Amino acid sequence: MRMHIGGEWVDKPEKIEVLNPFDGSVVDTIPRGDHDDVETALKTAERGAEIMAKMTGYERYEIIHKVSEMMSERTEELARIITLEEGKILAEATMEAGRAAEIIALSAEEAKRLYGEVIPLEGGPGVKGKLGFTVRVPCGIVVGISPFNFPLHLVCHKVGPALAAGNAIIVKPATDTPLSALKLVELFLEAGTPPEAIQCLTGSGSVIGDGLCADRRVRKITFTGSRDIGERICHTAGLKRVTMELGSNSPLIVMPDADPEKVAAAAAASGYSNAGQVCISTQRVIAHEGIYGDFLDAFKSTVEDISTGDPLDTPTKMGPMIREDDAIRVSEWVDEAVSDGAELLTGGERNGQIYAPTLVANVKPEMKISYDEIFGPVVGVTKVSNIDDAIALANDTNYGLSAAIFTENIDWAMRFVREVDSGNLMVNWGTQWRADLMPYGGLKESGMGKEGPKYAVQEMTETKMAIFHLSE
Ligand code: NAP
Repeated sequence: MRMHIGGEWVDKPEKIEVLNPFDGSVVDTIPRGDHDDVETALKTAERGAEIMAKMTGYERYEIIHKVSEMMSERTEELARIITLEEGKILAEATMEAGRAAEIIALSAEEAKRLYGEVIPLEGGPGVKGKLGFTVRVPCGIVVGISPFNFPLHLVCHKVGPALAAGNAIIVKPATDTPLSALKLVELFLEAGTPPEAIQCLTGSGSVIGDGLCADRRVRKITFTGSRDIGERICHTAGLKRVTMELGSNSPLIVMPDADPEKVAAAAAASGYSNAGQVCISTQRVIAHEGIYGDFLDAFKSTVEDISTGDPLDTPTKMGPMIREDDAIRVSEWVDEAVSDGAELLTGGERNGQIYAPTLVANVKPEMKISYDEIFGPVVGVTKVSNIDDAIALANDTNYGLSAAIFTENIDWAMRFVREVDSGNLMVNWGTQWRADLMPYGGLKESGMGKEGPKYAVQEMTETKMAIFHLSE
């Protein structure tokens, strides 16, 4: 595919191959963008931002809503692209494509809701004859940088709200999975989006990222990806707005009054979908000693039922990881934990990019599979003897994106909600759950700012305060 910059589809002599993670075949190629392309995109986005800001909310709504309808009609095609470039099983890709259409529909609605507020200035002492109100205006140029693991869904969380708010957007998709984003841009153009207002620049983030993020014409950066790249972008960005959706090593607390079978089902769904490459994957299970053994028995057999293979084949329950390097890294971390005393209950084998669904018990907080983000199909279980220790362990991390507890005890559940430092808190489900309309984002080093169209539009607009000084 070509990239979309300067208001047109552009090719380059130098290409990057997009590989199918399952068999290494070339799915397509994309142009390798460079610094000149960054400049073209920024210049064009300046014009795009002017055009978008002049459109009415309803005009923006009509275009964005049309895209959501087109996406719903083409779910199958979109899902296939996702699976081919990312490697998640087709059922998960179909769910991603459906949710992506929903995000765009929600964004369209937000285009009609850029409310200001009347401020009661005369409520201040000695103030008389003043009328004040706020006006919300677009930021201007938004840069959206996305990771490989949800190549359509997460791009929609950036593009939909940016355009709904009246901005121009430049998308920089992950180099491993750029095709879904390029397809989305095609749909936006087909629906009538001004070509200057939506651009998709392909190429290596380490080459073009700094140029995009440092430029003063950009007023807002919305980034989803790893903690370290997020931190780098914050340094580079300087004085501009940023939303950071970063990583995690999400904990799931299991108290002794929980049903082991129910927890096992939720932990499996939460820990192994997309081969564990989900920012809110359950990575650390913190199980009370009163349920530890029963839970492990139930969980082990559930994990052993997860079949691996070609993600396009219906019986496959888990596909490959995105790169062989990552599968090797995961394998090394598990081996290191086992040599330090953890117990491998199932999995632990690697076949190219497929790493078997792996369950490790007796995990210590100082092991890398516990304190770092593993981002692979591995769940580690640690035994505790009370709710205090469980909460302390859940919080013993720099991350804070999602956390979960299984209990029927309302006091334990409320302590969990109040005391665990996490942006998302699940009671009686695993850590991996999200409705796209909710405010979603992390605490601590999992990031800052919220996504979900209503909240993202808020972060992609500026508030101006107007004050009328009225004569008597
Ligand atoms: P990544 O390596 O951080 O890459 C994310 C994006 O940043 C890619 O588009 C990448 O481009 C780009 N990039 C790389 N260097 C850059 C630079 N110097 N300046 C600007 N952009 C740069 O992350 P990933 O491996 O794709 O995704 C996995 C991570 O994302 C995990 O940590 C996961 O937890 C996190 N994540 C978080 C959420 C959330 O909502 N909180 C959701 C999904 C994923 P290239 O591909 O060209 O290198």
